Amino acid sequence: MKLLVILLFSGLILGCRGNSSYSLPPKLLLVSFDGFRADYLQNYEFPHLQNFIKEGVLVERVKNVFITKTFPNHYSIVTGLYEESHGIVANSMYDVITKRHFSDLNDKDPFWWNEAVPIWVTNQLQGNRSSAAAMWPGTDVPIHNTTPSYFMNYSSSVSFEERLNNITVWLSNSNPPVTFATLYWEEPDASGHRYGPEDKENMRRVLKGIDDLVGDLVYKLKTLGLWENLNVIITSDHGMTQCSQDRLINLDSCIRRSDYTVIDWTPVAAVLPKINRTEVYNTLKTCHPHLNVYLKEEIPARFHYQHNDRIPPLILVADEGWTIGRNKSSSKLGDHGYDNSLPSMHPFLAAHGPAFHKGYKHSTINIVDIYPMMCHILGLKPHPNNGTFGHTKCLLVDQWCINLPEAIGIVIGALLVLTMLTGLIIIMQKRYSVPHPFSRLQLQEDDDDPLIG
Ligand SMILES: [Zn+2]
Repeated sequence: MKLLVILLFSGLILGCRGNSSYSLPPKLLLVSFDGFRADYLQNYEFPHLQNFIKEGVLVERVKNVFITKTFPNHYSIVTGLYEESHGIVANSMYDVITKRHFSDLNDKDPFWWNEAVPIWVTNQLQGNRSSAAAMWPGTDVPIHNTTPSYFMNYSSSVSFEERLNNITVWLSNSNPPVTFATLYWEEPDASGHRYGPEDKENMRRVLKGIDDLVGDLVYKLKTLGLWENLNVIITSDHGMTQCSQDRLINLDSCIRRSDYTVIDWTPVAAVLPKINRTEVYNTLKTCHPHLNVYLKEEIPARFHYQHNDRIPPLILVADEGWTIGRNKSSSKLGDHGYDNSLPSMHPFLAAHGPAFHKGYKHSTINIVDIYPMMCHILGLKPHPNNGTFGHTKCLLVDQWCINLPEAIGIVIGALLVLTMLTGLIIIMQKRYSVPHPFSRLQLQEDDDDPLIG
């Protein structure tokens, strides 16, 4: 009896402890390795990242948004919006009305960012929680008068180690607790531009470096006791494709420099005509077989890239691997920004933590689907967005999902089993059927017939 009481009592205590750890607010760390092309995962070795995936989930391909550039896609991840809706439509922009310029080195004016509300702002406004950022485009700008409670001013010269150190300190000792954090790293984008993704030898070395950083991240989180309760998403903004000196589109060969201004150059050029727009359009239209020229109102609907004042009256889109310029040479051997339906432009996503399944692989989601999933994990009410929460349900432990090929398999399997059972029942019935008790009687009646006749 005593033993029973002790067991019950200890069970009660354990139960309470379980509940209290369950009631801790969910935490999420969002990591971006810039320019991590989806198929690097298949073509190179990543022992640390593969360990992370083995215990978590992998989305092999993330369809990002047009234009496939850094600032626009990082803002789509944290807002769930297409570029025309969040307003960061390029790495370089010009606002015709206010005559303001935006570039990756001149990005601190909240004017450019205020068309959307990023998740780190929502996270701080919807509860007693903090956000922290070891860099991510926009995190050092007071968007809607709010920065993350903890952030670093952007500087590419700050080491990964220092960024990681800051993030782990903020995740460990903050009041109110940091429940959402970002960590950004410039590679493998910088090396992808320099060498081109087809330079296997250099990219192998660079990507091994990235994998080592993933190893450092996991080791540090485990050492500090943060690993078990923290959800970690590792993803990227875009891929990378091979460019060449032989694939240059020289605008000087088609049009006078005095007829237009270019705000953003390649592979999507934002053009402001200085003379009649139709004249510039007609001239550029026949400039080069690998140059696609669109009036703003003609931009294909699938790009979701039209309804914003910051999108210029004319855009030029180069075919994959081609570079738009005015000079006869280009130093870049790799680039991105191209059509977002190209596989080379797609990044991947991996995730680990209490919110995610273990060892689950998924083929594809959209980059705008990440935002509603993160809001769900953090228990936040999402702002209106272009993402679909349903696309990410299969990744999450608290959601029920149907994988279409699996579902079709189950239905076909069930139909086969049913058909076999029915067949078996029919055969058994035939084999063991006894003559009908009235059939003899019937026969007798029949037998009587001739007598009557
Ligand atoms: Zn990038």
